[in-house]
Amino acid sequence: MEHVLTIEDVRNTISNWKKEGYSIGYVPTMGFLHDGHASLIDQARKNNDKVIVSIFVNPIQFGENEDLSTYPRDINNDKKLCESHGVDLIFTPSSEEMYQDKKAFVDIIDLSNTLCGLRRPIHFKGVCTVVAKFFNIIQPTNAYFGKKDAQQLAIIRKMVFDLNFPVNIIGVPIVREHDGLAKSSRNTYLSSDERKAATILYKSIQKGKSSIEPGCSADSIINTMTEIIQSEPLAKIDYISVVDANTMQPVQKVISPVLVAMAVYIGTTRLIDNFSYDPN
Ligand code: AMP
Repeated sequence: MEHVLTIEDVRNTISNWKKEGYSIGYVPTMGFLHDGHASLIDQARKNNDKVIVSIFVNPIQFGENEDLSTYPRDINNDKKLCESHGVDLIFTPSSEEMYQDKKAFVDIIDLSNTLCGLRRPIHFKGVCTVVAKFFNIIQPTNAYFGKKDAQQLAIIRKMVFDLNFPVNIIGVPIVREHDGLAKSSRNTYLSSDERKAATILYKSIQKGKSSIEPGCSADSIINTMTEIIQSEPLAKIDYISVVDANTMQPVQKVISPVLVAMAVYIGTTRLIDNFSYDPN
């Protein structure tokens, strides 16, 4: 496995691969890799000649009071995981390498103003800008994103469609712990009591899944799920929403494909989870 730090070095390797006509699968990450990331890598490994993983904690997607400085990092473990899942190249640029200047941004309007975008107003602009840069640097055939970050996936799909990026976007199912908690690098922030309490998100998701039916009201689902979360004293709801699966705008009734998404604080750690539902 090759490990490079500069845009120039990535481009040299990619141009050799392109000369050979290889397909390239790309997995963007912020590192501290776990089984969720590994399932994206495995999918990429299955469907491409070459696999690239980027590890970059992107400063411009963090708000002022967010966890940029404390975000967990473990490059040695990340390298081991990548190596054992057959990655060909990892790219770990510095902030200086990625952002020589910060004058150009990619902002996908409307889809970024709901759900997590309400609480994190600059987040998706930062995500889209860095993903657009990585797409231009790597020029992958296929790029893999987790359904855990469902709003991010919808926004990236929209960016690729509207700006005509020549890349296929593939969504990969959520990978969970044995008790249902969605795997996340941020789970490491949880104390042992909080870790136990965090299972309430999945309980609420399961209840939502079993209650939703064609034509039902969004409020009935939200109320049912809210009740479950509120039964856990350490949990505080940021939002629970039912939105159109493509536009990310709230719906009143479940008559077309929807995303049911939530963000919940367990102590000071903000966790997200979701499920999709198609009534047709
Ligand atoms: P991150 O390193 O948190 O930015 O995540 C990098 C990619 O891995 C994103 O596309 C995430 O959606 C995806 N991912 C993170 N956790 C999971 C999970 N539990 N299941 C599936 N994909 C995940």
